[in-house]
Amino acid sequence: MNKALLDPALREDSLCEGLVLSGFGGFYQVLTAAGEKTCKPRGRLQKDEGGIYPGDTVRLELLSATGEGGVDGMIIQVLPRFNQLQRPKVANIDQAVLVLAVDDPPTDWILLDKMLVMAAYNQISPLICFNKCDILSPEEKESFLKLVSPYQEVGIPLVLVSAIKGEGIDDLLSLLRGKISVFAGPSGVGKSSLLNRLYPELNLTTGKISQRLGRGRHTTRHVHIIRMEEDTFVADTPGFSLLDLPEALMLSQLPTLYPDFADHGSCRFDGCIHYKEPGCVVKQSVAEGLIDEARYNRYLKIYDELKDREVKYHD
Ligand code: GDP
Ligand code: ZN
Repeated sequence: MNKALLDPALREDSLCEGLVLSGFGGFYQVLTAAGEKTCKPRGRLQKDEGGIYPGDTVRLELLSATGEGGVDGMIIQVLPRFNQLQRPKVANIDQAVLVLAVDDPPTDWILLDKMLVMAAYNQISPLICFNKCDILSPEEKESFLKLVSPYQEVGIPLVLVSAIKGEGIDDLLSLLRGKISVFAGPSGVGKSSLLNRLYPELNLTTGKISQRLGRGRHTTRHVHIIRMEEDTFVADTPGFSLLDLPEALMLSQLPTLYPDFADHGSCRFDGCIHYKEPGCVVKQSVAEGLIDEARYNRYLKIYDELKDREVKYHD
C-alpha cells in the first residue's frame, strides 16, 4: 500500500495524491490527506483504456470551492498499478484472505491450492483463514493444525477463526493491518460473517438468503474499499473470483507459483515441471518427506487440469 499518500506533507497547493475507494457513474470517492473527496476524471483520462479502479492511487487537483454535483476535485493521473483483479474490478491489492471452513462445508483442499496459485499469479500475498473453528473439539483442532502445518512451513500465514464466537478475530485483524485486503473463497464458508464481524457497519447478508440470491449479487456490485482503521483497508465484497485458474496461466509457470518447490536444489532438466522427469529434486524431496505429499499430489491434479485445458485450447 502506498502509505505516502496519507501523509499530509505531500499536500502541495491544490495538487495531491489519493486512494480511490469507490467509483460509480463517473464519480469517485478518493481518500486524501485532506479527507475523503468526491472527484471526476479530467477530460481524456475518462476515455483512457483501463479506467479508474478502486485501489488506484491517483493524482488530483482539488478545487478551491466544491463544484457542480458536489465535486471537490479532478483526477488528472492514475499512477501505475502493481496488480489488478477484473471480477470485480479492483487494483493494488496487498493481500488475499483465502477463506475456507474447517468443516460444513468440508474443506476443499484443491480449491485452496488453486486460490494460492491464483494469488501468486496475481502477485497478491495470501493469508489462509480457516473459519468455523468453534465446531471442532480441542482434539480435532489439534489434528487440524497438524494437517495444515505444511502451509505454514513454506511461509504462508494461516489463522483459525470463528466468525460466530469471535475466536482468532484479533489475530486476523492484526494480519490485516497496514494493507488493502480482499476476501475470497467458496460459498457458505463464512466470508460475509467474517467481514461483518470485523466491520459491523457493513451489514452484509449472510447464510441461506445470500446463497439463494446468488453469487452474482456480490460479483456485479461495485467494490467499495472500506477503511477499517487508520491504515487498514478491506474490499467490502466477499465475491472475489480467485476460484478459477487464470486463463493466461501457462503450464510451465505453474511450478514457479509453489513456494514449496523452491530451495530443494536444481532438477536435472531446466524447466522441470516435477512430474515424470528423472533427476527431479522435487519428487525426491516428496519421497523424503521434505515436501508435503498431499499438496504435491494436488499439484499434479491441477497440472493435469491445466494441461487438458491447453489441449482443448489448441484443438
Ligand atoms: P459466505 O457465503 O462465505 O459469505 O458465508 P456466510 O457468511 O453467509 O455464512 C454461511 C453460513 O455459515 C451461515 O449460516 C453462517 O451462520 C455460518 N457461519 C459463518 N461463520 C461461522 C462460524 O464461525 N461458525 C459456525 N459454526 N458457523 C458459521
Ligand atoms: Zn523437478
